[in-house]
Amino acid sequence: MFNLILFGPPGSGKGTQSEKLIAKYGLKHLSTGDLLRSEISRQTPLGKEAKSIMDKGQLVPDEVVIGMISSALDANPDARGFLFDGFPRTAAQAEALDKLLELKEAPIAAMLALEVSEDELIKRLLKRGETSGRSDDTNEVVIRARITEYHNKTAVVADYYKKFDKVVMVKGEGTIDEIFSRLCTEIDKRA
Ligand code: AMP
Repeated sequence: MFNLILFGPPGSGKGTQSEKLIAKYGLKHLSTGDLLRSEISRQTPLGKEAKSIMDKGQLVPDEVVIGMISSALDANPDARGFLFDGFPRTAAQAEALDKLLELKEAPIAAMLALEVSEDELIKRLLKRGETSGRSDDTNEVVIRARITEYHNKTAVVADYYKKFDKVVMVKGEGTIDEIFSRLCTEIDKRA
């Protein structure tokens, strides 16, 4: 099993690149943002609770996303590997993920961290908001709150994986294909 984390701030291109990576490497895409939005559109109790938090640009509680990831891992016993997108976002989530993967004897091979300037992130998110239908992309106050959450709680996740020498920084600016090619070069070194 080959497991990767695609890491980076909101708007760094994780969703776009994930689609291309799962197609090329045959991995199962696990995006906690997508899983949460699916709960919201199905109007489940979890979705209703998560929506008000997501609309403020804050992180939903660790136990909620860890539970979702745990179920998704169990639901895909035959996967060749997983591409985690938007997860883990806190140190507690990273530790929980390692424990879950330990049970499967399938550790994280690498964390690919996309680097994008803050001006570019805000520009991209506001543009995405014109078509994404995501309420958290249309309001600059919420966008800035998401970036603040990233700096306060999520950036430390890279420090966690640095201890295990698993972090690979990748320039996240340029064309979609240029960035994809940089990611593939790094993955192919480790596959
Ligand atoms: P994303 O689609 O990854 O940009 O996530 C959208 C929103 O979903 C975030 O702003 C958070 O409110 C929530 N979310 C997604 N993934 C996580 C996570 N791993 N931990 C906590 N909240 C999350």
